[in-house]
Amino acid sequence: MKKIDIHIHLQKDDPTLESYLAHMDAHEVEAALVHATSREEVGNEAVRKAVSAHPDRLYGSVYVDLRRPVYACIDLIKEYRAHGFKSIKLFPNLGYDPNDEQFEPFWQAVEDLGLMCLSHCGWLAPAPDKRERRSSLTATPFHFEIPARRHPGINFIFAHFGGGATYLETVTLLSRLKNCYADTCRGWGVWVWEQRMPGLKGLDFHHVLFGTDSIGAQYGEHEKWWTQTLLDMGRSEDDLKLYFYENNARLLGLGA
Ligand SMILES: [Zn+2]
Repeated sequence: MKKIDIHIHLQKDDPTLESYLAHMDAHEVEAALVHATSREEVGNEAVRKAVSAHPDRLYGSVYVDLRRPVYACIDLIKEYRAHGFKSIKLFPNLGYDPNDEQFEPFWQAVEDLGLMCLSHCGWLAPAPDKRERRSSLTATPFHFEIPARRHPGINFIFAHFGGGATYLETVTLLSRLKNCYADTCRGWGVWVWEQRMPGLKGLDFHHVLFGTDSIGAQYGEHEKWWTQTLLDMGRSEDDLKLYFYENNARLLGLGA
């Protein structure tokens, strides 16, 4: 089945994703959204180079650290919007709360620029430096409730289905707000479906997105597992098409 992956990253040994594109080609993955991170070798400029080398296949998502001054963050997203980027990537595990009132001018800019927002959600492996502050507490879907209510023009994507312990926050926001979505990346994004957690059955599949966090060579097995799991849970072929392709095409503004 044709697919679009809403959540991949650059690979250290594959800086312009040439090898990754070969996996995409082999498995009918037509396009992918590439999220920059804080590490320079896979950061904003590296993503810009990779996506500009592969227009129509790869799209860019600019990493923003909201611990920096708000106006510096706004300048950064304007710069990358001008390069054609479609999304911002956040990592609130570092200790800021996206609901905080001080970020309102930032969210207004995200909306005015027509960007969407994908945030890491949930648990995170310990950093190599154990003293670095990392917490799951601020990286949950409810920490996006205020900007999501105020800014219906921003589409919010909760990565890893919003985390294992907090997946019910995801279910709540996906059911109540039109501009909230979740991807099903490995880790908790797979776990909640594997465990058939309560509340997943009734979800409107217009809000559930195929995203893998760079599964690469395993796209084939992954597709088989998801198809089987979702059909077992009573989902239709139409739901599968929404999940693997149509929702992501709509969010990226691609003619579907
Ligand atoms: Zn990721």
